[in-house]
Amino acid sequence: MTDIIYHRTDCRACGSHDLELVFSLKPSPIGDAYVTREQLEIFQPSYPIDLYQCRQCGLAQITDVIDPEVLYGDYIYVTGSSMGLAAHFRDYAQSVASRLKLTPGERVVDLGSNDGTLLGCFKQLGMQVLGVEPATHIALQATAGGIQTIGAFFTPELAREMVAEHGYARLVTANNVFANIDDLQSWVQGIDLLLAADGVFVFESYYLADLLQNKVFDFIYHEHLCAFSVKPVAALFERIGLRLIAVERVATKGGSLRYFVQRSTGSLQDDGSVAEMLAHEHAMGLYRKQTYSDFAEEINALKTQTRNFLLQAKREGKSIAGFGASITGTTLIYHFEIGELLDYLVDDNPAKQGRFSPGLHLPVYPCAVLEQRKPDYVLILAWRFAGAFISKQGLKHSLIIPVPEFKVLVHD
Ligand SMILES: [Zn+2]
Repeated sequence: MTDIIYHRTDCRACGSHDLELVFSLKPSPIGDAYVTREQLEIFQPSYPIDLYQCRQCGLAQITDVIDPEVLYGDYIYVTGSSMGLAAHFRDYAQSVASRLKLTPGERVVDLGSNDGTLLGCFKQLGMQVLGVEPATHIALQATAGGIQTIGAFFTPELAREMVAEHGYARLVTANNVFANIDDLQSWVQGIDLLLAADGVFVFESYYLADLLQNKVFDFIYHEHLCAFSVKPVAALFERIGLRLIAVERVATKGGSLRYFVQRSTGSLQDDGSVAEMLAHEHAMGLYRKQTYSDFAEEINALKTQTRNFLLQAKREGKSIAGFGASITGTTLIYHFEIGELLDYLVDDNPAKQGRFSPGLHLPVYPCAVLEQRKPDYVLILAWRFAGAFISKQGLKHSLIIPVPEFKVLVHD
């Protein structure tokens, strides 16, 4: 086991050992490890999901780290396949290019560039683009598609080689990958090496304050090693002489922030957004343990309501399907301890169909199966998309929505 998972005892942002356990989820298998029929014999162990907060810098983090080779071994998530995300990246490229006053020909580097969707948007704006993507088959695919991509893990050594070969970057981006990095300090060093004198690092990540307020507890899982907030991010970059100059709110992932980091000599103006968000964090008690105890209580109340309802339905012989075969679904099923109460899952992602859920091995079917099987209830595991599900499917089935408020919608 020691080869697969290790428990770190220091903060990955500041190195302090003053870490406090603030919120625990029930252990679960790797959340996205939906297996094929041939893999059903292989036992999938559960690993802890405990959120600690550093008492020195305030970073909330998971300290049990699963070997990336195991965690991302069966990597099936490709950005371009997600329509919503592609549109988001187009807006992102335009908005960042205009805020930074990028001019055609300048270098943009994306870390964790996946299939190059974001860089493609910058390329269309006339930028020179370069990706770094550790999943080598995806990197090759991106390069073949016209977005030059280095298939490697990002390190300070790689940053030096990139500068030698391609020059400094005016913009470095990292989106929804910065939270997945265990060796955060090495990444920050690499970014410092890569940035031009007027270079800016922009990253986007789900926001701890929104996670708590919007009850997005299922966004805490093994891949998400850090749940960022403004205070620790500002301190992380300040230690190496970079400055968090601005933040923007973004609606994705149940509430995210876009962070802008530059050198002390950089040209972006302080618009007061960092100070404003810091005040918000302190007002809501983001660095107080009590806030997390209250959060745990809220989540556990939802768990009790959901579980009791499902238990009663099962006793009455009802059939129950779950909508949403994703990582967050795994977190929710395990934390709410409802796996045995579901008959099967449905999802419109073809990559998940015909597979079986992590650990419990619930079969995953296309949503169209609901028409034939007519379950008594559909539990909306992907609760943030409940509205989209209803507008697409109508109320042909009775729906159970577990979060943010427990609700049962009886069908027409
Ligand atoms: Zn710390």
